[in-house]
Amino acid sequence: MEHIVIIGNGIAGVTAARHIRKLSDKKITIISAETDHFFSRTALMYVYMGHMRWRDIEPYEPWFWEKNRLELKKGYVSAIDPSTKTLQFKEGNTMPYDKLIIASGSTTNTFGWEGLELNGVQGLVTKQDLEELEKNAPNNIECPSAVIIGGGLIGVEMAEMLRTRNIEVTMLVREDAFWTNALPHGEAEMLSRHIESHGVTIRHETNLDKILGDSDGNVRAVVIKETGEEIPCKVVGITTGVKPNITFLENSGIETDKGILVNRKLETSEKDIYAIGDCAQQRKTIGNRPPVEAVWYTGRMMGEALAQTICGNTFEYNPGNWFNSAKFFDIEYQTYGWVQPQERRKEFEAQFHWKCPSDKRCITISYRKESNEFLGINTFGIRMKHEVFDRWLTEKRTVDYVIQHLKQANFDPEFYKNYEKEIIKAFHTTKEIEA
Ligand SMILES: Cc1cc2nc3c(=O)[nH]c(=O)nc-3n(C[C@H](O)[C@H](O)[C@H](O)COP(=O)(O)OP(=O)(O)OC[C@H]3O[C@@H](n4cnc5c(N)ncnc54)[C@H](O)[C@@H]3O)c2cc1C
Repeated sequence: MEHIVIIGNGIAGVTAARHIRKLSDKKITIISAETDHFFSRTALMYVYMGHMRWRDIEPYEPWFWEKNRLELKKGYVSAIDPSTKTLQFKEGNTMPYDKLIIASGSTTNTFGWEGLELNGVQGLVTKQDLEELEKNAPNNIECPSAVIIGGGLIGVEMAEMLRTRNIEVTMLVREDAFWTNALPHGEAEMLSRHIESHGVTIRHETNLDKILGDSDGNVRAVVIKETGEEIPCKVVGITTGVKPNITFLENSGIETDKGILVNRKLETSEKDIYAIGDCAQQRKTIGNRPPVEAVWYTGRMMGEALAQTICGNTFEYNPGNWFNSAKFFDIEYQTYGWVQPQERRKEFEAQFHWKCPSDKRCITISYRKESNEFLGINTFGIRMKHEVFDRWLTEKRTVDYVIQHLKQANFDPEFYKNYEKEIIKAFHTTKEIEA
């Protein structure tokens, strides 16, 4: 019987395993060095905040694996030999495979700062990181203050987590507003104000120089590069993005760049070895998508697509229109299509931005100046329907059509009733200014 081995029990690896099982009788082994069972990485924060228990973030009951004949192996793969189709474990043993799926996810990005080895310096990616945070920041007596390096999605989650225990939080953000490498400026500024309204101090245009420790090897402060100022703290959160977790492939011969290079069939440079999820990098970019897509639903889509190929129905990864969502304290964010931040905005892209006087809701719609073709929308504090925007993007609707029919995409008719006139008026004013 063909043996499919999967390195990684995250959303990508487990989705591939489930779908291969649905389609075949193959022997399947899932390996992880992190946990016995699959869990929802996106829900890590809710465990620290006390909204969920660990078992609530495990989507499957413990019996699920055996019932579906999915063998689980706890261990760290330290090397792969494609010539003999063998995995080497750090623990000393080996495992043969017929087909190998690498779904090894991401790891925290660091930039070689002095002091990274100190107790209290940590990322937020793994279950072990969550346990560390519980130990390092159990309450505001043992940890009165923390500094978070980097203003992105994981950084704001960590800030929210620490604030639930009344720990003082300072965020060092290199840019002049929050997450400007992904968001247009009006939105980024609104988010900075919102995060600050939750008691977080954001130091914009501020870089970390180094982290200082005490004589016991514990963090005591960070030093700001621009001014030399010291900010005392017990915890330093490193949230300067993630990178593919691929160091164990160094001598395998598998071609890598930032991630493991794959084609649209998710094949690597080595026969019978595939890569999916956060660790995979598309050789040819798909539209405006980043070549490494570190998001949950694309890991799931890659797992589904690859299962088909492994079971004999060759299938290409075809993610369709881009979308994503996140939450910044109380403000929900959704994005469909492409609304580019200033640094990536092309000559042909116009943007219409509307913000509610509450300073908690806004939308930005992007479109082609010449043809008026709708390119994408960002919404903050307003919940929209995925299927409607997905259809409008595929149908290449004009921005005028989208504005006229925005009500159809809205989950909250009350909101639209209150603001419809205002949004339409603001849109026409923008168009007149452009003309
Ligand atoms: C705090 C946080 C919040 C997030 N929130 C969102 C969100 O709101 N929306 C969203 O779309 N995305 C979010 N993401 C990103 C999302 O969680 C990831 O894109 C997704 O979990 C990646 O899944 P994966 O299957 O590729 O890898 P992972 O879930 O990272 O799983 C990889 C597994 O492989 C194991 N592994 C790696 N190397 C080896 C080895 N050599 N031997 C054995 N095991 C190995 C790892 O230990 C790990 O268990 C968030 C991420 C984090 C960290």
